[in-house]
Amino acid sequence: MRIAVGGIHTECSTYSPVLMTEEDFRVLRGQALLEAEYFSFMKAEDVEHLPLLHARAVPGGPVSRGVYDAFKAEFLEGLRAAVPIDGLYLAMHGAIKVDGMDDAEGDWISAARAVVGPDCPIAASYDLHGNVSRRIIDQLDIFAAYRTAPHIDTPETMTRAWSMLVSALRDGTRPGIAWAPVPVLLPGECTSTEDEPAKSLYAQLPEIDKRPGILDANLMVGYVWADEPRATACAVVTATDKPAAKRAAEEIAAGYWAERSNFRFGPVTGPLNEMLDIAERATTTPIILADSGDNPTGGGVGDRADVLKALLARGWRGALIAGITDRPAVEACFAAGAGETLMLKIGGSLDPASPCAEMLVEVVRLDDSGLERERQAVVRVGAIDIVIAARRRPYHDIEDFRRLGLDPEAVRLLVVKSGYLSPELAPIANPNLMALTEGVVNQGIAGLASLRRQRPAYPFDQDFAFEPVARFSSRWSSGD
Ligand SMILES: [Zn+2]
Repeated sequence: MRIAVGGIHTECSTYSPVLMTEEDFRVLRGQALLEAEYFSFMKAEDVEHLPLLHARAVPGGPVSRGVYDAFKAEFLEGLRAAVPIDGLYLAMHGAIKVDGMDDAEGDWISAARAVVGPDCPIAASYDLHGNVSRRIIDQLDIFAAYRTAPHIDTPETMTRAWSMLVSALRDGTRPGIAWAPVPVLLPGECTSTEDEPAKSLYAQLPEIDKRPGILDANLMVGYVWADEPRATACAVVTATDKPAAKRAAEEIAAGYWAERSNFRFGPVTGPLNEMLDIAERATTTPIILADSGDNPTGGGVGDRADVLKALLARGWRGALIAGITDRPAVEACFAAGAGETLMLKIGGSLDPASPCAEMLVEVVRLDDSGLERERQAVVRVGAIDIVIAARRRPYHDIEDFRRLGLDPEAVRLLVVKSGYLSPELAPIANPNLMALTEGVVNQGIAGLASLRRQRPAYPFDQDFAFEPVARFSSRWSSGD
């Protein structure tokens, strides 16, 4: 069996003015794709995998059109060279915005379908924060999405999608998809699967999988910071039995709708100054404060200095801010050298609307992996240490700190640009506070500009009735 593999994977806030460029993507192609840890689960003796192109980026602003077009052209060129194939597996995120284009995954997947033809099954794995459109569903045969947020089931999800494809090819069955949109758009921070009611809603999915004729049940939260017509939550069920698929999709959709007003932020959450008041009174450490409006892993720019400015204004003692993206500031630190003191402006290097702070700092440490865009600097102002990064990136893993000689457990206050904390930071937070800061992934959902979304949609609209109706992929419908 010949299965081609590729895809494009990122999440884009349409509120961000900072376009993603080629440099933002990690691109796998050829043998490097097959040898990547990310795709290491694809092992079956009777399957030959044909690597296309897989491009993945930390979430951010819209992808520039030229970069998207170039990735798509290379992917399609590989696909044209690979056909005839028995199946296609796409590892997607689901929330890309391409500058000037709606429903980029719909565009990508439709283009792939046009190359492989109507008889080739296509399987896709998704992040549960993807926005699924009718156009996407109509081109797919198999779908599986994460069931955890924070996402700790990425390999398992990819394996589910790929395994269903391999099984279908082996036994000659042709699964199909039922899709039931739910007009609800909530942030990931309210819908963490570690907290109710998402925890229970997601716990049902493996149970639904066990029903006869059902292969894989999914609940998509969608991505709220995309002001696009397709943005929506939905249920997506891969199955071999149509009535069972329809019932399951409508049941999952109805369950999410019924709970829509019960989602809450997991940690203690509030305006920045309130959170800093709480932090000042705290007697335990490390307090981990999430600067949620500028979280790069949710699509935030990551260059804002709001929290730094607030801490300076309070004369705060004992904090580590990790990090703020500011390439010119990093370069200035490298030019000065470790141990030197300089006047430094930090913040606002990417989005002119982002606040900045200017102050005298001491360069504590420089980190150079050999690539200019990977450089980092640690600077100190009073009793506040600040990590500055040349590129947009999170500091969510312990190793991110260790590399810089920093111990996140040893500080009084750790500030990270994050929504819900990562699996490595959550266990050490004592306590965890989430600040409702400004930025392009602002958690004030009801106040987001909503010019292009389909309405009504909760929480933008509160008072409307809804009854879920599942539709089949047109590929499945035409098989009647
Ligand atoms: Zn996600």
